[in-house]
Amino acid sequence: MGGVYDLQDTFHITRESLNKIITHCRQELPFEACGLISGRNGIAYRIWKMTNIDRSPYSFSMDLDELKHVFLKMTKYNQEFMGIYHSHPSGIAYPSPEDIHFNNYPDKIQFIISLAARKPVIKAFRYYGNNVIPYKINVTEH
Ligand SMILES: [Zn+2]
Repeated sequence: MGGVYDLQDTFHITRESLNKIITHCRQELPFEACGLISGRNGIAYRIWKMTNIDRSPYSFSMDLDELKHVFLKMTKYNQEFMGIYHSHPSGIAYPSPEDIHFNNYPDKIQFIISLAARKPVIKAFRYYGNNVIPYKINVTEH
């Protein structure tokens, strides 16, 4: 099989992690929430809630010392840093120009959770320069 169903175009994440991300994003309302996603063997199964130091409904930034601390923990627990998530409290699940411009991790998956409607909408992307590549999300039970 080719095209959008190639393994490389799919991001695998456990249902538990996805639920934790949604819960965190709702807790941070009306502000954007942000965090990191890690795992092993191509499956993301741990999330790391981060402080949005912008405390804004329209943007997020992470604290460098907190990042350093979390990356050390990931190493300690043999976790591979796989992606970043953040919420759009009232916007669509698509990266803003600022999201693309200020992205420091071009090789990581970007999860965007829109809470604009009652049912959260979750999309995954990668940014290559100004190109936004959508990824398929495969939710696994473990
Ligand atoms: Zn955004």
